[in-house]
Amino acid sequence: GAKRLEGNYGNVWVEYIALTMKHNALNLGQGFPDFAPPDYVTKALVEAVTGPNVLLNQYTRGYGHPRLVNAIAKLFSKLHDRPVDPMTNVLVTAGAYESLFCCFQGFINPGDEVIIIEPFFDCYEPMTRAAGGTPVFVPLRPSKPGSLMTSAEWKLDPAELESKFSRKTKALVINTPNNPLGKVFTREELEMIANLCKKYNVLVFADEVYEWLLYDGHKHTRIATLPGMWDRTLTISSAGKTFSVTGWKLGWTVAPDHLMKHVSAFHQNCVYTCATPIQEAAAVGFELELGRLDSPDCYFLELPAMLQPKRDLLAAQLQEVGMLPVTPDGGYFMVADFSHLGVETGDDSDEPKDCKFVKWLIREKKFATIPTSAFYSKEHKSVAENYIRFCFIKEDSTLRRAGDILKEWK
Ligand code: PMP
Ligand code: GLN
Repeated sequence: GAKRLEGNYGNVWVEYIALTMKHNALNLGQGFPDFAPPDYVTKALVEAVTGPNVLLNQYTRGYGHPRLVNAIAKLFSKLHDRPVDPMTNVLVTAGAYESLFCCFQGFINPGDEVIIIEPFFDCYEPMTRAAGGTPVFVPLRPSKPGSLMTSAEWKLDPAELESKFSRKTKALVINTPNNPLGKVFTREELEMIANLCKKYNVLVFADEVYEWLLYDGHKHTRIATLPGMWDRTLTISSAGKTFSVTGWKLGWTVAPDHLMKHVSAFHQNCVYTCATPIQEAAAVGFELELGRLDSPDCYFLELPAMLQPKRDLLAAQLQEVGMLPVTPDGGYFMVADFSHLGVETGDDSDEPKDCKFVKWLIREKKFATIPTSAFYSKEHKSVAENYIRFCFIKEDSTLRRAGDILKEWK
């Protein structure tokens, strides 16, 4: 195999999805809804495939289906409060994953450093390494470990963050709302990060796939909208998260022309063009939502309103059995400290404690979650050893079954 693959063969999803299937476990692991997406997008997909415009079953424009990039540009011009050109500022990709991959490949040279805030969506590390770069990690630290917290109580130390910047730093990756913690970075926190990126002339890869999923009135600040940041930011989103269709694997990047040309070149040389009917259906979805962005019927507002009680139900159930959930302000995951349960897994391997506990849960209780240490670098896995991650974009009945399993061994 190629040298750049060294250390990048396994990953948490491959391992834990296989285990979940093997034991046919109740699945609060990998993040996806177990309920239907809005019917207008699924109907639009059927119409795209079987309707009168048979060309919708054929290749479309490589950088993005015209109807979709037009809709995304219209929406993001509003969100970014500046003109976003559909032809030069939007690139459609095979999920946010491919957008991320093209960003790393488009900008990172061997020897470059990439600052990654922990906990982080796991693929940032192998993607940095595959491009020849070196990841440099900086953790969000809990202000009162061992007690009930909200995700807002996990913070960066500004001096520690600044100490990670050097002449080699090429990019910083930020994920807000964050997976797995659910932290929604405040405007002040983002300003602090943005000021350092400007001071050290660093690009920002802004993974904002959970941009609509905000609870308790929290607001999503787009780092690209802060003064001087448009020119150095690539913003990444996902139709999978936006319309609850993770299996459609459709994402996009919004960026200024001078940055986009490098990302587009990479896309053109690997995927070239994404599935046309899927893009058509997402375009129909955006066109509908664009007409009702401020109304409670807008799916972008309806979905978080539906998820907040699910978050609260899961948190209450976890607390009832003696776990300490960290209440997320955004996203659809929750981490919880399980260390007080005192479970003996009988596993004496040298894996982190959370991995042993999750494997035990899947094997013995038929209940799947994800170990939080997967979202930390090798050096810092011990920071996360007492936490596991739950996904709560599930039917209430699924969440209740999870609660019943937990109560059984209390
Ligand atoms: N970034 C984050 C933070 C995610 O949680 C996910 C979920 N898979 C992705 C990127 C990738 O999204 P997609 O499924 O659109 O590739
Ligand atoms: N974003 C989802 C999660 O964190 C899916 C991850 C994946 O499929 N790689 O669970």
